[in-house]
Amino acid sequence: MTEANTSQSSNIQELRKIIEGYHGEKIRVMEVCGTHTHEVFRLGIRQLLPPEIQLISGPGCPVCVTPADFIDEASWLAREKQVTICTFGDLVRVPGTEGSLATTRSEGAKIQVVYTPLDAVSYAREHPEEQVCFLSVGFETTTPAVCLAVKRAAGLHLTNFTLLTANKTMDEAYRVMAGSADAYLYPGHVCAITGTAPLEQLAAQGVSGVVAGFTAAELLAALAVIVKRQPKGLPFFENCYPRVVTKEGNPAARRLVRTFMEPCDAEWRGLGIMKKSGMCLKPDFAAFDARKKFSVPKMEGRTNPACRCGEVLQGKCLPKDCPIFSKLCTPDHPIGACMVSQEGACSAYYQYSL
Ligand code: SF4
Repeated sequence: MTEANTSQSSNIQELRKIIEGYHGEKIRVMEVCGTHTHEVFRLGIRQLLPPEIQLISGPGCPVCVTPADFIDEASWLAREKQVTICTFGDLVRVPGTEGSLATTRSEGAKIQVVYTPLDAVSYAREHPEEQVCFLSVGFETTTPAVCLAVKRAAGLHLTNFTLLTANKTMDEAYRVMAGSADAYLYPGHVCAITGTAPLEQLAAQGVSGVVAGFTAAELLAALAVIVKRQPKGLPFFENCYPRVVTKEGNPAARRLVRTFMEPCDAEWRGLGIMKKSGMCLKPDFAAFDARKKFSVPKMEGRTNPACRCGEVLQGKCLPKDCPIFSKLCTPDHPIGACMVSQEGACSAYYQYSL
C-alpha cells in the first residue's frame, strides 16, 4: 500500500467514526444527483449510517423528472411527422401515456440512440433526406453540450436538425424541495458549472447543503460535515469537492447556454410545473425548435396511477413503499421513470437493496 493510499484509508476511517458515532436528533439528507444515489448504494455507505441519519433521494435524475407528455411529444413527432428521433438510450424506455419510445419504434418509427448531442448533428448531416430531432433533457451539466450542438448545426446551415427541449435547472428545485430535508448533498457535476455562489445565497436564505464528489472519501466527508454542522442549528454551506467545484464554476459554459437558451417554466414528473426551472431555445433559434417547426400539439401526459415516482422524487416515500416495486415494476419492465435509468432511485433500490 502506498503512503497516499494509507493516508486516504485512515481518512476514511476517521470520517466513518464521525458518521457512525452520531446519536443526536434525526437528520434528513437529500441527494439530488442520480450518480450520488447510485454510488452511495454501490459503496455501501447506506449501511454505515446510524438510524438517526436518513438519506432520501430527490429529483436528481434527469430521465426520472422528464414528464410523460415529453415522451408523448417525441412519439407524435416520430409517428405523425416521420421525424427521426435521436436520443440517449435511457429515454427510449421511459413510459409515456401510451407506451414508451420503444413501443413507437416497434411500430416502425425511427428512434436512433446517440451518445452525445453532436452525434445527432452528425446524423442529420449524413441524412439530409430525414428530419432529425434530438431529445434534449438534462440539468446544467448537459445543457451546454446541447447548445454546442445547435451552434454546430447553425454553422453547417443544417435545416433538418431540431431539439425537443426539456432541460432543467436545479436552483428552483432546491428552493421548492427545501422543506423535505434538513440538508442537501449537492451534485458535484452540476455545481462544477453553476459554481458555489448560488448555494451560498441559498444558505443565507436558510437552506443548508454540502457539495459532494463521487468517491467514498468525498461522500463520507460531505456527510461528516452535515453531521457536525446540522446540530448547531444554523444554516450552512460547505464545498467538499473543491478539486472540481469553484466559487465561479464554469462561466464559459454558462455564457454558451445564455447565447442559445432562456429560462422557461418547466414540468417535472410528479412535481408539476416549477416556474423558471427549465431552459428553452431563444426565439432567434426557433428554426431549431421542434415544437415550433412542427407545431407539436399540447399533450396532457398521464402516468400509471399505481406509480409513486412523484412521491419518491420528493423524498415522501421510499421506492419499496410503492406497492408494485419489484413486483410489476422492475428494470426489465419499468412502470415508472425512476425504474428506468441506473441513476433512478427505484432502479438503485432494486439493484442494491433486494
Ligand atoms: S417502483 Fe416503479 S411504479 Fe413504483 S414508484 Fe418506482 S418507478 Fe414508479
